[in-house]
Amino acid sequence: MAAAPARELSRGAGGGGKVDRVNDVDERIASALEKIHQAQRSLIWEVSTREKLSPIQIQFLLHLDRFPAEQRTVSALAREFDLSKPTVSDALVPLEVKGLIARKTNEEDRRSAILALTAKGKKKLAALGDWRGALVDAVSGFSAAEKEAALKFLAGVIERLFEEGVVSVARMCTACEHYRPGDSRHRCALTGRGFGDGGINVGCVNYSLPPGGVRDE
Ligand code: SF4
Repeated sequence: MAAAPARELSRGAGGGGKVDRVNDVDERIASALEKIHQAQRSLIWEVSTREKLSPIQIQFLLHLDRFPAEQRTVSALAREFDLSKPTVSDALVPLEVKGLIARKTNEEDRRSAILALTAKGKKKLAALGDWRGALVDAVSGFSAAEKEAALKFLAGVIERLFEEGVVSVARMCTACEHYRPGDSRHRCALTGRGFGDGGINVGCVNYSLPPGGVRDE
């Protein structure tokens, strides 16, 4: 998906130098995205308080449950969540102390360890429940065409943030090495799946950074 050229901020009445942020649709969309993020934070905080885990620890548990070994190292978590390795390590300590995760030697790189959920960790994950349910419910009432347009738009925003280096791992089709775009149908070269804009995968386990897409750690 080709990213749009960098935008110019709209100007206030009279064409003066002052930026009219109130009437700038870009600013309002950014505010809407922030509001949705706030809702997501509020939902995860509810679970986090109940289960005595921080929101990032919950996200680590979810990640360790879904992803293959090479994506379960401290470095991979740091990249995935745009955190420093020391921050990731600090957040992992309580999870290990509580017996929710364990480390084993990475045979391919003995300097790093592979992290995995323990049986207790899997039980804890099950106890978290469907904490995103309210968000998914809020989306579900829209038509298929509206959802497809929204997905295409949001994928474009994530792609732009990825290109700008704000997001290190886009983990979705249009910024993936395996993505083959078409006019209306696209293809995943890894799985052979053909899809339209409504089939753009976000959070894909098979995602691969395009060449040159890895930022320095
Ligand atoms: S690997 Fe996943 S993210 Fe990449 S193109 Fe295929 S479905 Fe999309």
